Amino acid sequence: MTRKPVIEVRRSKRRRRTVSAYRDGERVVVLIPAQFSRAEEREWVDRMLERLAVREQRARRTDSELTARAQRLAARYLPDHPSAARPTSVRWVQNQNGRWGSCTPADGTIRISHRVQEMPDWVIDYVLLHELSHLVIANHSAAFWALVGRYPKSERARGYLEGVSAAAGLGITE
Ligand SMILES: [Zn+2]
Repeated sequence: MTRKPVIEVRRSKRRRRTVSAYRDGERVVVLIPAQFSRAEEREWVDRMLERLAVREQRARRTDSELTARAQRLAARYLPDHPSAARPTSVRWVQNQNGRWGSCTPADGTIRISHRVQEMPDWVIDYVLLHELSHLVIANHSAAFWALVGRYPKSERARGYLEGVSAAAGLGITE
């Protein structure tokens, strides 16, 4: 865990409802309306710190980080399929509704939905390994699931994704 940042709360008479936050060196500045109570201030500071963390995590998760992660997973879990499971490019995409990830075995490219970008690392790893396994086996046969099952958190990650899909009414299946 990172240590708690120094928080500076600034109250503004001009603000009525909007709250915003930004990082300024070691500090996080949170701007709130002047009439907020202490309880509202605490609630909003927590909420804005969480949002800031999500935003910063998303910014760290670039295409090149994703590609490196996929290559590490392929080397670790699919070492017996070196050519088939080696992706040529792995990218985050915005236009993928209805699927967490997709791949094109013919050219070795993988695309991962931006919806996955804010999920925990172990879920991202599952989505990547799922697509890497499709570079080896295109369908969802028992042999395919045996490859995916090499990743110990596969079942847990599938449950997590099902839960997110159901809660958000996304109707995303594998
Ligand atoms: Zn699949």
